[in-house]
Amino acid sequence: MKTIIEPFRIKSVEPIRMTTRKERQAYIKEVHYNLFALDSDHVLIDLLTDSGTSAMSASQWAGIMRGDESYAGSPSYHRFEHTIKDLMPFKHIIPTHQGRAAERILFSLVSDDSKLIPSNTHFDTTRANVEATGAQAVDLVIAEGLDPESGHPFKGNIDLERLDQFLIDNKGHVPLVMITVTNNSGGGQPVSMKNIKGARKICDRHDIPLFLDACRFAENAYFIKLREAGYENASVKDIVREMFSYADGMTMSAKKDALVNIGGWLAMNDDAWALKARNILILTEGFPTYGGLAGRDLEAVALGLEEVIDEDYLQYRLASTQYLGDALQSIGIPLITPVGGHAVYVNAAKLLPHIPALSYPGQALAVALYEVGGIRSCEIGSIMFGRQPDGSEMPAKMELVRLAIPRRVYTQSHIDYVIECFEEVYQGKDELVGFEITKEPPALRHFTAHFAPLKPVIA
Ligand SMILES: *Cc1c(COP(=O)(O)O)cnc(C)c1O
Repeated sequence: MKTIIEPFRIKSVEPIRMTTRKERQAYIKEVHYNLFALDSDHVLIDLLTDSGTSAMSASQWAGIMRGDESYAGSPSYHRFEHTIKDLMPFKHIIPTHQGRAAERILFSLVSDDSKLIPSNTHFDTTRANVEATGAQAVDLVIAEGLDPESGHPFKGNIDLERLDQFLIDNKGHVPLVMITVTNNSGGGQPVSMKNIKGARKICDRHDIPLFLDACRFAENAYFIKLREAGYENASVKDIVREMFSYADGMTMSAKKDALVNIGGWLAMNDDAWALKARNILILTEGFPTYGGLAGRDLEAVALGLEEVIDEDYLQYRLASTQYLGDALQSIGIPLITPVGGHAVYVNAAKLLPHIPALSYPGQALAVALYEVGGIRSCEIGSIMFGRQPDGSEMPAKMELVRLAIPRRVYTQSHIDYVIECFEEVYQGKDELVGFEITKEPPALRHFTAHFAPLKPVIA
């Protein structure tokens, strides 16, 4: 069957306010062509991020009502801890308000300015938290992971040879090794079981702990089931358990694969680290049985974890992303392939070769998608990465537009609508013009910069 059947019915709805193209042209002009500055009421299909944007189930909403708000020893904490340990059998489970809080606590424990932290690719908050301790965050993804068109099935893998050499060269300076599953910054590309196991062996040889940045662990596990020999018939739960059996700890943003709108945790086996982590937790997040969360949030996470490993859900999840990717490719839209789990990345430089990198082809595409169809996407290119510390500008490695798919939020007809908008944008692509920045802050400029469209060049 070509139709994707969402494995759920809809019990509660949120209206989308329809807008006309003319209204959208006015809205985007009003916010100086910065999509982050739009009111979400003025967006029809919001593909800005998959973080914290999941739809919760009826059972999770019931759990919200059941949440026990006792300051200490709440049964909601015990359900949270028990569900996590069932999948990720670490000794200590420490709740935090989101992923970056777990990262901050972990790195403030183990890291300082003499340290280096290797990963396949650090996510930007992870990198920032490593660097905030004075340490260096080093990316060691395999070469295929940096090639937008390589067909490698596990482009998120860490380069094991380079990791081994890195640990030899930096002996005494590496407190832990991280692996991000799936590799978010690399396009949501999965990491194979063989690779995690290989990293474990190397870490054992050097006596260094291995941590997973596990935000999209369930999507990663399903990719293993689909793509890695020997796992075709394994249950996702068993794959997840095996993945974590090779690790000594994890950081988690529950805003991704725990199907909730806020939450996270830090987990580990080491008693001494856990003791210190809980002391920092009390200082900045809260008592160890709630961290930075309410009892009801802990309940929702526990239920979300049971739902996210459901194979009907995961099949639908990866099929939906693939469906969007396949349809865009058949129109002629160049993508990073294979498409990852949570997002489709459009290669805007290739789609709009007449717009130079520093006239921001990604922004031109993102604005066109908004004007044509009310779709909000995210430029990941020279606007996000082009500004140098000295204020000068250099083109980024790639000019991408990310279409992140919120979990359980949009139906196939919403996605068909996105595809139709792309058809129209594709028809008019040669007329799209670049942008200039008219105002920018010194750092993280993509959030608040102002833009103006450049005048079309008359040939
Ligand atoms: C989102 C994310 C984080 C940070 O989590 P927050 O909940 O946003 O703080 C860390 N690592 C990865 C891979 C992520 O996707």
